[in-house]
Amino acid sequence: MAAGILVFGESDQGKIRKATLEALSQARVLAPTLSGPVTAILLGPGSAAAAAQAAGADRAMSCEAPALANYSGEPYLAAVLAAVSEVKPAGIFFSGSTVGKDLAPRVATKLGVACVSDCTGLAVADGVLEATRPVYAGKAIATVRSKSTPFVATLRPNVFPVTAAPPPSKVDALAFDPPAPKTTVKAVHRAATARAELTQAQVIVSGGRGMKGPEHYKLLEELADEVGAAVGASRAAVDAGWRPHADQVGQTGKTVSPTLYIACGISGAIQHLAGMSSSKIIVAINKDPQAPIFQIANYGIVGDLFEIVPALRDEIRRRRNG
Ligand SMILES: Cc1cc2nc3c(=O)[nH]c(=O)nc-3n(C[C@H](O)[C@H](O)[C@H](O)COP(=O)(O)OP(=O)(O)OC[C@H]3O[C@@H](n4cnc5c(N)ncnc54)[C@H](O)[C@@H]3O)c2cc1C
Repeated sequence: MAAGILVFGESDQGKIRKATLEALSQARVLAPTLSGPVTAILLGPGSAAAAAQAAGADRAMSCEAPALANYSGEPYLAAVLAAVSEVKPAGIFFSGSTVGKDLAPRVATKLGVACVSDCTGLAVADGVLEATRPVYAGKAIATVRSKSTPFVATLRPNVFPVTAAPPPSKVDALAFDPPAPKTTVKAVHRAATARAELTQAQVIVSGGRGMKGPEHYKLLEELADEVGAAVGASRAAVDAGWRPHADQVGQTGKTVSPTLYIACGISGAIQHLAGMSSSKIIVAINKDPQAPIFQIANYGIVGDLFEIVPALRDEIRRRRNG
């Protein structure tokens, strides 16, 4: 019988990702009601060491096969399916990362079950897993149950709290031979920035059409550097060619849930809000007091961003330097 939860884990340079710890923490809350353990699976060379950091998992599995060095859909799918057939989980959780968003539907399709994406809440009701997730660009929240088992879900990053938990008691090697690949990832190039990746960042400074041109993003970068933030953008700014698409926040960009989101010169169109409205604190800087962004902002500053952002930067710098 299906029991417990399998969490697909991710690591970066040997360190387990925070989004994985969030999924593990949530799994730990729910697994007892599903009469089973929490099992973490991490893949690729170095994954055994990363799996040992999977706090909240009762047990971890890893596969060090060189073919799993860089993420590629086919071998990762085969590895997760091998783990599923060993663990027989009631639920399989992925973080809503780029990898999770690619892999979860592949796993669900192969298992012939539903994939519930972008979950912001998870519970067990009447003995089965159910999720809440925003729909219609965040205008409504749907509660979703699946008629099939296991319940495959991706969890929105930065929504589920990480709770302190012991590491797994053991890390087992997953008995698995990667299939001959049809495609091979030859290299992965890191973005040449010291800033946090947008979906991982705790603080985001984001700019829209009100920035008036690509050269003014330097202002946001300076503010971001003062507070260790990532820099985001609205689609208007991306469409204008001011920022790369990787920086876009919103319905057709990235979904972010930082602790602090500072929106500069962004009107607050529903498609933008869809990507950032679950941020814990939202600060809006806009010269139009009627801008819709003020309806969801915790703090609103009505004024010219070209005066406010440098003032903010200087004040933070002054306080940091004592
Ligand atoms: C299918 C679809 C998907 C979409 N997906 C996305 C998405 O993923 N992400 C996204 O962002 N959008 C998305 N959009 C576009 C969205 O509808 C808006 O057009 C876009 O978000 C507007 O960007 P903006 O707020 O930067 O620009 P605007 O709406 O033009 O707002 C600019 C704001 O800057 C303010 N401003 C101007 N000058 C200053 C100043 N000096 N100081 C302070 N404030 C100033 C103005 O008052 C204004 O409020 C999508 C649209 C569609 C139809």
